[in-house]
Amino acid sequence: MPVPRIVIVGAGFAGYNTARVLERLLRPAKAEIVLISPFGYTLYQPLLPQVAGGVLDPRSIAGPLHRLLRRTQLIPGKATGADLGERTVEVTKIDGRTVALRYDRLVLAAGSVTRSLDIPGLREHAHGMKNLAEAVYLRDHVIAQLELASASMDASERAARLGFLVVGGGYSGVETCANLQLLTTKALRRFPRLDPALLSWTLIDVAPKLLPELGERLGAVAQRRLSHRGVDIRLKTSIERLDADRVRLTDGSTLPCRTAIWTAGVTPSPVVAALDLPADRGRLVVGADLRLAGHPEVYALGDAAAVPDLAKGDGAVCPPTAQHAIRQAKVAAHNVAASLHGRDARPYRHRDLGMVVDLGGVQAVARPFGVELTGVPAQLVTRGYHLLTTPSVQARARVAGDWLLHAVAGDDLIRLGLFDTRTGSLADLEHSL
Ligand SMILES: Cc1cc2nc3c(=O)[nH]c(=O)nc-3n(C[C@H](O)[C@H](O)[C@H](O)COP(=O)(O)OP(=O)(O)OC[C@H]3O[C@@H](n4cnc5c(N)ncnc54)[C@H](O)[C@@H]3O)c2cc1C
Repeated sequence: MPVPRIVIVGAGFAGYNTARVLERLLRPAKAEIVLISPFGYTLYQPLLPQVAGGVLDPRSIAGPLHRLLRRTQLIPGKATGADLGERTVEVTKIDGRTVALRYDRLVLAAGSVTRSLDIPGLREHAHGMKNLAEAVYLRDHVIAQLELASASMDASERAARLGFLVVGGGYSGVETCANLQLLTTKALRRFPRLDPALLSWTLIDVAPKLLPELGERLGAVAQRRLSHRGVDIRLKTSIERLDADRVRLTDGSTLPCRTAIWTAGVTPSPVVAALDLPADRGRLVVGADLRLAGHPEVYALGDAAAVPDLAKGDGAVCPPTAQHAIRQAKVAAHNVAASLHGRDARPYRHRDLGMVVDLGGVQAVARPFGVELTGVPAQLVTRGYHLLTTPSVQARARVAGDWLLHAVAGDDLIRLGLFDTRTGSLADLEHSL
Protein backbone atom coordinates (compact mmCIF):
# COMPACT_ATOMS: atom_id res chain seq x y z
CA MET A 1 0.00 0.00 0.00
CA PRO A 2 1.38 3.46 -0.86
CA VAL A 3 1.93 5.67 2.20
CA PRO A 4 -0.58 8.53 2.55
CA ARG A 5 0.60 11.80 1.00
CA ILE A 6 0.16 15.06 2.90
CA VAL A 7 0.43 18.09 0.62
CA ILE A 8 1.02 21.52 2.20
CA VAL A 9 0.49 24.70 0.16
CA GLY A 10 2.74 27.58 1.29
CA ALA A 11 5.88 27.70 3.43
CA GLY A 12 5.15 30.71 5.65
CA PHE A 13 4.66 30.56 9.41
CA ALA A 14 1.64 28.26 9.00
CA GLY A 15 2.86 25.90 6.26
CA TYR A 16 6.49 25.57 7.33
CA ASN A 17 5.59 24.90 10.96
CA THR A 18 2.95 22.33 9.94
CA ALA A 19 5.62 20.44 7.95
CA ARG A 20 8.15 20.72 10.78
CA VAL A 21 5.78 19.34 13.42
CA LEU A 22 4.50 16.60 11.07
CA GLU A 23 8.09 15.41 10.55
CA ARG A 24 8.25 14.86 14.30
CA LEU A 25 4.81 13.27 14.67
CA LEU A 26 4.89 10.84 11.73
CA ARG A 27 7.63 8.38 10.78
CA PRO A 28 8.54 8.24 7.03
CA ALA A 29 6.78 4.86 6.74
CA LYS A 30 3.54 6.49 7.98
CA ALA A 31 3.29 9.45 5.57
CA GLU A 32 4.95 11.32 2.74
CA ILE A 33 5.09 15.09 3.31
CA VAL A 34 5.15 17.41 0.31
CA LEU A 35 5.49 21.20 0.55
CA ILE A 36 4.65 23.50 -2.37
CA SER A 37 6.52 26.80 -2.17
CA PRO A 38 7.56 29.34 -4.80
CA PHE A 39 10.68 30.15 -2.74
CA GLY A 40 13.34 28.02 -1.02
CA TYR A 41 12.86 29.80 2.29
CA THR A 42 10.34 30.52 5.00
CA LEU A 43 10.13 34.29 5.46
CA TYR A 44 10.14 36.03 8.84
CA GLN A 45 7.81 38.84 7.71
CA PRO A 46 7.77 40.89 10.95
CA LEU A 47 11.38 41.93 10.29
CA LEU A 48 10.80 43.07 6.69
CA PRO A 49 10.77 46.77 7.74
CA GLN A 50 14.27 46.31 9.20
CA VAL A 51 15.46 44.86 5.86
CA ALA A 52 14.02 47.91 4.08
CA GLY A 53 15.66 50.15 6.68
CA GLY A 54 19.06 48.49 6.10
CA VAL A 55 19.33 47.16 9.67
CA LEU A 56 19.14 43.53 8.52
CA ASP A 57 20.50 41.67 5.51
CA PRO A 58 17.66 40.08 3.43
CA ARG A 59 19.10 36.57 3.89
CA SER A 60 18.96 36.91 7.68
CA ILE A 61 15.15 36.70 7.69
CA ALA A 62 14.91 33.95 5.06
CA GLY A 63 15.02 30.55 6.81
CA PRO A 64 16.43 27.95 4.36
CA LEU A 65 13.86 25.16 3.86
CA HIS A 66 16.49 22.66 2.66
CA ARG A 67 18.26 23.04 5.97
CA LEU A 68 15.27 23.42 8.29
CA LEU A 69 13.24 20.46 7.00
CA ARG A 70 14.72 16.96 6.98
CA ARG A 71 12.49 14.77 4.84
CA THR A 72 9.74 16.97 3.44
CA GLN A 73 9.79 16.97 -0.36
CA LEU A 74 9.83 20.53 -1.72
CA ILE A 75 8.01 21.35 -4.95
CA PRO A 76 9.29 24.71 -6.24
CA GLY A 77 6.18 26.39 -7.58
CA LYS A 78 2.70 27.64 -6.79
CA ALA A 79 -0.59 25.88 -6.30
CA THR A 80 -3.00 27.35 -8.85
CA GLY A 81 -6.12 25.30 -8.10
CA ALA A 82 -7.42 22.06 -6.65
CA ASP A 83 -10.02 19.41 -7.45
CA LEU A 84 -11.29 18.41 -4.02
CA GLY A 85 -13.44 15.61 -5.54
CA GLU A 86 -10.46 14.00 -7.28
CA ARG A 87 -8.13 14.98 -4.42
CA THR A 88 -5.54 16.66 -6.63
CA VAL A 89 -3.78 20.03 -6.46
CA GLU A 90 -2.71 21.83 -9.62
CA VAL A 91 0.85 23.14 -9.33
CA THR A 92 2.67 25.49 -11.67
CA LYS A 93 6.38 24.93 -11.11
CA ILE A 94 8.86 27.78 -11.29
CA ASP A 95 9.84 26.69 -14.84
CA GLY A 96 6.22 27.23 -15.97
CA ARG A 97 5.21 23.55 -16.24
CA THR A 98 1.90 22.53 -14.64
CA VAL A 99 1.34 19.20 -12.90
CA ALA A 100 -1.52 17.65 -10.92
CA LEU A 101 -0.45 16.34 -7.51
CA ARG A 102 -2.49 13.67 -5.73
CA TYR A 103 -3.06 14.07 -1.98
CA ASP A 104 -4.61 12.17 0.91
CA ARG A 105 -4.52 15.19 3.22
CA LEU A 106 -4.31 18.79 1.99
CA VAL A 107 -3.15 21.69 4.17
CA LEU A 108 -3.91 25.14 2.72
CA ALA A 109 -1.52 27.73 4.17
CA ALA A 110 -0.98 30.15 1.28
CA GLY A 111 -1.07 33.27 3.50
CA SER A 112 -2.06 36.68 2.23
CA VAL A 113 -1.14 39.53 -0.10
CA THR A 114 -1.61 43.26 0.35
CA ARG A 115 -5.25 44.24 -0.12
CA SER A 116 -5.64 47.01 -2.65
CA LEU A 117 -8.71 49.22 -2.96
CA ASP A 118 -10.31 50.77 -5.99
CA ILE A 119 -8.33 54.01 -5.74
CA PRO A 120 -7.07 55.52 -9.01
CA GLY A 121 -3.33 54.89 -9.42
CA LEU A 122 -2.96 52.64 -6.36
CA ARG A 123 -2.02 49.35 -8.02
CA GLU A 124 0.29 51.09 -10.52
CA HIS A 125 2.15 53.47 -8.17
CA ALA A 126 1.90 52.22 -4.58
CA HIS A 127 4.47 49.83 -3.10
CA GLY A 128 3.77 47.01 -0.65
CA MET A 129 5.73 45.61 2.30
CA LYS A 130 4.74 41.96 2.25
CA ASN A 131 7.60 40.04 0.67
CA LEU A 132 11.38 40.09 0.45
CA ALA A 133 11.42 41.55 -3.08
CA GLU A 134 9.34 44.52 -1.87
CA ALA A 135 11.56 45.18 1.15
CA VAL A 136 14.73 45.06 -0.98
CA TYR A 137 13.05 47.13 -3.69
CA LEU A 138 11.89 49.81 -1.24
CA ARG A 139 15.33 50.19 0.29
CA ASP A 140 16.89 50.70 -3.16
CA HIS A 141 14.05 52.96 -4.22
CA VAL A 142 14.31 55.22 -1.16
CA ILE A 143 18.11 55.58 -1.52
CA ALA A 144 17.60 56.28 -5.25
CA GLN A 145 15.17 59.13 -4.38
CA LEU A 146 17.83 60.78 -2.20
CA GLU A 147 20.46 60.37 -4.94
CA LEU A 148 18.16 61.72 -7.66
CA ALA A 149 16.96 64.63 -5.50
CA SER A 150 20.56 65.54 -4.75
CA ALA A 151 21.41 65.45 -8.47
CA SER A 152 18.40 67.53 -9.56
CA MET A 153 18.23 71.31 -10.15
CA ASP A 154 14.43 71.24 -10.37
CA ALA A 155 12.76 72.31 -7.09
CA SER A 156 9.49 70.48 -7.79
CA GLU A 157 11.33 67.25 -8.63
CA ARG A 158 13.33 67.53 -5.42
CA ALA A 159 10.18 68.03 -3.36
CA ALA A 160 8.49 64.97 -4.90
CA ARG A 161 11.57 62.78 -4.46
CA LEU A 162 11.85 63.79 -0.80
CA GLY A 163 8.13 63.33 -0.11
CA PHE A 164 7.35 59.92 1.40
CA LEU A 165 3.90 58.60 2.31
CA VAL A 166 2.93 55.49 4.29
CA VAL A 167 -0.70 54.39 4.34
CA GLY A 168 -1.73 52.20 7.28
CA GLY A 169 -1.35 52.82 11.01
CA GLY A 170 -1.14 49.14 12.00
CA TYR A 171 2.13 47.46 13.06
CA SER A 172 3.27 46.93 9.46
CA GLY A 173 2.79 50.58 8.40
CA VAL A 174 4.14 52.08 11.63
CA GLU A 175 7.29 49.89 11.59
CA THR A 176 7.88 50.57 7.90
CA CYS A 177 7.48 54.32 8.36
CA ALA A 178 9.68 54.35 11.49
CA ASN A 179 12.53 52.36 9.94
CA LEU A 180 12.60 54.13 6.59
CA GLN A 181 12.21 57.58 8.13
CA LEU A 182 15.24 56.85 10.31
CA LEU A 183 17.16 55.65 7.26
CA THR A 184 16.47 58.89 5.35
CA THR A 185 17.17 61.29 8.24
CA LYS A 186 20.51 59.60 8.97
CA ALA A 187 21.34 59.36 5.24
CA LEU A 188 20.92 63.12 4.74
CA ARG A 189 24.36 63.65 6.32
CA ARG A 190 25.85 62.02 3.21
CA PHE A 191 23.90 64.35 0.89
CA PRO A 192 25.12 67.83 1.84
CA ARG A 193 23.32 69.41 -1.14
CA LEU A 194 19.91 68.40 0.24
CA ASP A 195 18.06 70.75 2.58
CA PRO A 196 16.79 68.59 5.53
CA ALA A 197 13.69 70.82 5.72
CA LEU A 198 12.59 69.40 2.35
CA LEU A 199 12.44 65.82 3.68
CA SER A 200 8.81 64.98 4.43
CA TRP A 201 7.30 61.80 5.89
CA THR A 202 3.50 61.46 6.19
CA LEU A 203 1.68 58.55 7.82
CA ILE A 204 -2.06 58.30 7.24
CA ASP A 205 -4.86 55.98 8.33
CA VAL A 206 -8.66 56.06 8.05
CA ALA A 207 -8.88 55.00 11.72
CA PRO A 208 -8.93 57.62 14.50
CA LYS A 209 -5.76 56.26 16.18
CA LEU A 210 -2.53 54.37 15.50
CA LEU A 211 -1.91 50.75 16.49
CA PRO A 212 -5.43 50.01 17.83
CA GLU A 213 -4.28 46.42 18.62
CA LEU A 214 -1.88 47.83 21.27
CA GLY A 215 -4.46 49.84 23.18
CA GLU A 216 -5.06 53.56 23.69
CA ARG A 217 -1.90 54.51 25.64
CA LEU A 218 0.76 52.71 23.57
CA GLY A 219 -0.81 53.88 20.30
CA ALA A 220 -0.59 57.46 21.62
CA VAL A 221 3.04 56.95 22.71
CA ALA A 222 3.98 55.67 19.23
CA GLN A 223 2.20 58.65 17.68
CA ARG A 224 4.08 61.12 19.91
CA ARG A 225 7.47 59.50 19.22
CA LEU A 226 6.98 59.59 15.45
CA SER A 227 5.56 63.14 15.47
CA HIS A 228 8.56 64.26 17.53
CA ARG A 229 10.82 62.83 14.83
CA GLY A 230 9.02 64.91 12.20
CA VAL A 231 6.48 62.43 10.80
CA ASP A 232 3.24 64.19 9.84
CA ILE A 233 0.51 61.85 11.14
CA ARG A 234 -2.96 62.33 9.70
CA LEU A 235 -5.75 60.16 11.03
CA LYS A 236 -9.23 59.65 9.53
CA THR A 237 -7.50 60.24 6.18
CA SER A 238 -6.93 58.12 3.07
CA ILE A 239 -5.73 58.47 -0.52
CA GLU A 240 -8.13 59.86 -3.12
CA ARG A 241 -5.79 59.55 -6.10
CA LEU A 242 -2.17 58.54 -6.64
CA ASP A 243 -0.01 59.76 -9.54
CA ALA A 244 3.66 59.12 -10.28
CA ASP A 245 4.81 62.33 -8.58
CA ARG A 246 1.94 63.43 -6.30
CA VAL A 247 -0.82 62.15 -4.10
CA ARG A 248 -4.22 63.67 -3.35
CA LEU A 249 -5.53 62.88 0.12
CA THR A 250 -9.14 62.74 1.31
CA ASP A 251 -8.48 65.76 3.59
CA GLY A 252 -8.29 67.85 0.40
CA SER A 253 -4.50 68.31 0.36
CA THR A 254 -2.10 67.32 -2.43
CA LEU A 255 1.44 66.27 -1.51
CA PRO A 256 4.45 66.01 -3.80
CA CYS A 257 5.41 62.33 -3.51
CA ARG A 258 7.22 59.66 -5.48
CA THR A 259 7.05 57.00 -2.78
CA ALA A 260 3.68 55.79 -1.49
CA ILE A 261 3.80 52.65 0.63
CA TRP A 262 0.46 50.92 1.08
CA THR A 263 0.07 48.65 4.12
CA ALA A 264 -3.67 49.05 4.69
CA GLY A 265 -4.74 45.46 5.22
CA VAL A 266 -4.27 42.03 3.68
CA THR A 267 -6.40 39.62 1.70
CA PRO A 268 -5.79 35.87 1.17
CA SER A 269 -3.41 34.72 -1.55
CA PRO A 270 -5.18 34.55 -4.99
CA VAL A 271 -5.22 30.73 -4.99
CA VAL A 272 -7.80 30.83 -2.19
CA ALA A 273 -10.36 32.62 -4.40
CA ALA A 274 -9.52 30.20 -7.26
CA LEU A 275 -10.69 27.28 -5.07
CA ASP A 276 -14.21 28.74 -4.99
CA LEU A 277 -14.93 27.53 -1.44
CA PRO A 278 -17.00 29.19 1.32
CA ALA A 279 -15.11 32.24 2.59
CA ASP A 280 -15.42 34.97 5.20
CA ARG A 281 -14.01 38.22 3.83
CA GLY A 282 -11.91 36.12 1.46
CA ARG A 283 -10.55 33.78 4.16
CA LEU A 284 -11.49 30.08 3.97
CA VAL A 285 -14.18 29.10 6.45
CA VAL A 286 -12.97 26.29 8.71
CA GLY A 287 -14.05 24.74 12.00
CA ALA A 288 -12.08 25.15 15.22
CA ASP A 289 -10.30 21.89 14.25
CA LEU A 290 -9.07 23.76 11.10
CA ARG A 291 -10.98 21.45 8.72
CA LEU A 292 -13.20 22.55 5.83
CA ALA A 293 -16.88 21.64 6.23
CA GLY A 294 -17.70 18.72 3.92
CA HIS A 295 -14.00 18.01 3.27
CA PRO A 296 -12.54 16.56 6.49
CA GLU A 297 -9.29 15.70 4.64
CA VAL A 298 -8.65 19.41 3.85
CA TYR A 299 -7.25 21.83 6.47
CA ALA A 300 -6.71 25.60 6.24
CA LEU A 301 -4.95 27.97 8.63
CA GLY A 302 -2.98 31.18 9.03
CA ASP A 303 -3.83 34.37 7.12
CA ALA A 304 -5.66 32.31 4.45
CA ALA A 305 -8.30 30.96 6.86
CA ALA A 306 -11.03 32.41 9.08
CA VAL A 307 -10.29 30.29 12.15
CA PRO A 308 -12.86 30.69 14.95
CA ASP A 309 -11.36 32.54 17.92
CA LEU A 310 -12.62 30.36 20.77
CA ALA A 311 -10.88 32.54 23.37
CA LYS A 312 -12.99 35.56 22.28
CA GLY A 313 -16.14 33.65 21.25
CA ASP A 314 -19.16 35.46 19.76
CA GLY A 315 -18.31 34.32 16.24
CA ALA A 316 -14.97 36.15 16.28
CA VAL A 317 -12.18 34.88 14.01
CA CYS A 318 -8.43 34.97 14.74
CA PRO A 319 -6.66 38.04 13.34
CA PRO A 320 -4.03 37.46 10.63
CA THR A 321 -0.87 37.36 12.76
CA ALA A 322 2.26 35.23 12.90
CA GLN A 323 1.43 34.39 16.48
CA HIS A 324 -1.79 32.62 15.45
CA ALA A 325 -0.27 31.05 12.30
CA ILE A 326 2.55 29.38 14.28
CA ARG A 327 0.23 28.01 16.94
CA GLN A 328 -2.45 26.91 14.48
CA ALA A 329 0.27 24.97 12.63
CA LYS A 330 0.87 22.80 15.70
CA VAL A 331 -2.85 21.98 15.90
CA ALA A 332 -3.08 21.35 12.13
CA ALA A 333 -0.12 18.94 12.26
CA HIS A 334 -1.56 17.20 15.30
CA ASN A 335 -4.98 16.84 13.65
CA VAL A 336 -3.56 15.56 10.35
CA ALA A 337 -1.52 12.94 12.24
CA ALA A 338 -4.53 12.07 14.42
CA SER A 339 -6.70 11.54 11.32
CA LEU A 340 -4.14 9.07 9.92
CA HIS A 341 -4.06 7.21 13.23
CA GLY A 342 -7.88 7.20 13.52
CA ARG A 343 -7.80 9.50 16.54
CA ASP A 344 -9.91 12.59 17.35
CA ALA A 345 -9.02 16.10 16.20
CA ARG A 346 -8.52 18.87 18.76
CA PRO A 347 -9.76 22.47 18.48
CA TYR A 348 -7.51 25.53 18.18
CA ARG A 349 -7.69 27.73 21.25
CA HIS A 350 -5.12 30.39 22.01
CA ARG A 351 -5.00 33.54 24.10
CA ASP A 352 -3.34 36.66 22.74
CA LEU A 353 0.30 36.92 23.89
CA GLY A 354 0.46 40.63 23.07
CA MET A 355 2.24 42.59 20.40
CA VAL A 356 5.63 44.24 19.84
CA VAL A 357 6.25 47.22 17.53
CA ASP A 358 9.73 48.42 16.57
CA LEU A 359 9.91 52.22 16.10
CA GLY A 360 13.52 52.15 14.86
CA GLY A 361 16.75 52.68 16.81
CA VAL A 362 16.15 52.18 20.54
CA GLN A 363 12.47 53.11 20.35
CA ALA A 364 9.63 50.59 20.52
CA VAL A 365 6.26 49.95 22.15
CA ALA A 366 5.22 46.50 23.36
CA ARG A 367 2.49 44.80 25.34
CA PRO A 368 3.71 41.30 26.27
CA PHE A 369 1.07 39.43 28.33
CA GLY A 370 -0.82 42.71 28.92
CA VAL A 371 2.19 44.60 30.38
CA GLU A 372 2.67 47.96 28.65
CA LEU A 373 6.29 48.85 27.83
CA THR A 374 7.89 51.77 25.98
CA GLY A 375 11.42 52.89 25.05
CA VAL A 376 14.47 50.69 25.68
CA PRO A 377 12.67 47.98 27.75
CA ALA A 378 10.12 47.63 24.93
CA GLN A 379 12.91 47.42 22.34
CA LEU A 380 14.67 44.71 24.39
CA VAL A 381 11.44 42.69 24.59
CA THR A 382 10.78 43.28 20.87
CA ARG A 383 14.22 42.06 19.84
CA GLY A 384 14.13 39.18 22.32
CA TYR A 385 10.75 38.08 20.95
CA HIS A 386 12.02 38.16 17.35
CA LEU A 387 15.16 36.23 18.27
CA LEU A 388 13.10 33.54 19.98
CA THR A 389 10.65 33.26 17.07
CA THR A 390 13.14 33.14 14.16
CA PRO A 391 13.26 29.58 12.87
CA SER A 392 16.81 28.37 13.71
CA VAL A 393 19.99 29.01 15.69
CA GLN A 394 21.72 30.10 12.47
CA ALA A 395 18.93 32.62 11.74
CA ARG A 396 19.19 33.98 15.29
CA ALA A 397 22.96 34.37 14.92
CA ARG A 398 22.58 36.19 11.60
CA VAL A 399 19.91 38.57 12.96
CA ALA A 400 21.84 39.30 16.18
CA GLY A 401 25.06 39.79 14.16
CA ASP A 402 23.31 42.25 11.80
CA TRP A 403 21.90 44.24 14.74
CA LEU A 404 25.36 44.49 16.30
CA LEU A 405 27.06 45.45 13.04
CA HIS A 406 24.44 48.07 12.25
CA ALA A 407 24.70 49.57 15.75
CA VAL A 408 28.50 49.79 15.48
CA ALA A 409 29.10 50.58 11.79
CA GLY A 410 25.81 52.19 10.64
CA ASP A 411 24.43 51.96 7.12
CA ASP A 412 26.58 51.92 3.97
CA LEU A 413 23.59 53.08 1.86
CA ILE A 414 24.48 50.71 -0.97
CA ARG A 415 21.89 50.86 -3.73
CA LEU A 416 22.05 47.49 -5.48
CA GLY A 417 20.21 48.59 -8.64
CA LEU A 418 18.70 45.12 -9.09
CA PHE A 419 15.23 46.54 -9.71
CA ASP A 420 16.11 49.61 -11.80
CA THR A 421 13.92 48.45 -14.69
CA ARG A 422 10.93 47.47 -12.50
CA THR A 423 8.19 49.73 -11.15
CA GLY A 424 8.10 47.85 -7.81
CA SER A 425 4.36 48.53 -7.61
CA LEU A 426 1.76 46.27 -5.98
CA ALA A 427 0.83 45.12 -9.51
CA ASP A 428 4.49 44.37 -10.31
CA LEU A 429 5.91 42.70 -7.19
CA GLU A 430 2.85 41.20 -5.49
CA HIS A 431 -0.37 40.74 -7.37
CA SER A 432 1.32 39.46 -10.54
CA LEU A 433 3.27 36.68 -8.78
C1 LIG B 1 5.71 44.06 7.79
C2 LIG B 1 4.96 43.03 8.61
C3 LIG B 1 5.10 43.00 9.99
C4 LIG B 1 4.42 42.05 10.74
N1 LIG B 1 4.59 42.02 12.11
C5 LIG B 1 3.98 41.07 12.83
C6 LIG B 1 4.18 40.99 14.24
O1 LIG B 1 4.93 41.77 14.81
N2 LIG B 1 3.53 40.00 14.93
C7 LIG B 1 2.71 39.09 14.30
O2 LIG B 1 2.16 38.20 14.98
N3 LIG B 1 2.47 39.16 12.98
C8 LIG B 1 3.08 40.12 12.22
N4 LIG B 1 2.87 40.17 10.86
C9 LIG B 1 1.86 39.29 10.24
C10 LIG B 1 2.44 37.91 9.95
O3 LIG B 1 3.67 38.01 9.27
C11 LIG B 1 1.44 37.09 9.15
O4 LIG B 1 0.24 37.03 9.86
C12 LIG B 1 1.98 35.68 8.94
O5 LIG B 1 3.08 35.73 8.06
C13 LIG B 1 0.91 34.73 8.39
O6 LIG B 1 1.48 33.47 8.22
P1 LIG B 1 0.97 32.53 7.03
O7 LIG B 1 1.84 31.31 7.04
O8 LIG B 1 -0.49 32.36 7.11
O9 LIG B 1 1.23 33.37 5.71
P2 LIG B 1 2.61 33.84 5.09
O10 LIG B 1 3.64 34.02 6.13
O11 LIG B 1 2.26 34.98 4.19
O12 LIG B 1 3.07 32.59 4.22
C14 LIG B 1 2.34 32.15 3.10
C15 LIG B 1 3.33 31.49 2.15
O13 LIG B 1 2.58 30.89 1.09
C16 LIG B 1 3.21 31.17 -0.13
N5 LIG B 1 2.20 31.11 -1.16
C17 LIG B 1 1.29 32.05 -1.52
N6 LIG B 1 0.51 31.59 -2.50
C18 LIG B 1 0.94 30.34 -2.77
C19 LIG B 1 0.54 29.35 -3.70
N7 LIG B 1 -0.45 29.59 -4.55
N8 LIG B 1 1.21 28.17 -3.73
C20 LIG B 1 2.23 27.94 -2.86
N9 LIG B 1 2.66 28.85 -1.97
C21 LIG B 1 2.00 30.02 -1.92
C22 LIG B 1 3.81 32.55 0.05
O14 LIG B 1 4.88 32.75 -0.85
C23 LIG B 1 4.28 32.48 1.51
O15 LIG B 1 5.58 31.97 1.58
C24 LIG B 1 3.56 41.12 10.09
C25 LIG B 1 3.42 41.15 8.70
C26 LIG B 1 4.11 42.09 7.95
C27 LIG B 1 3.96 42.10 6.45
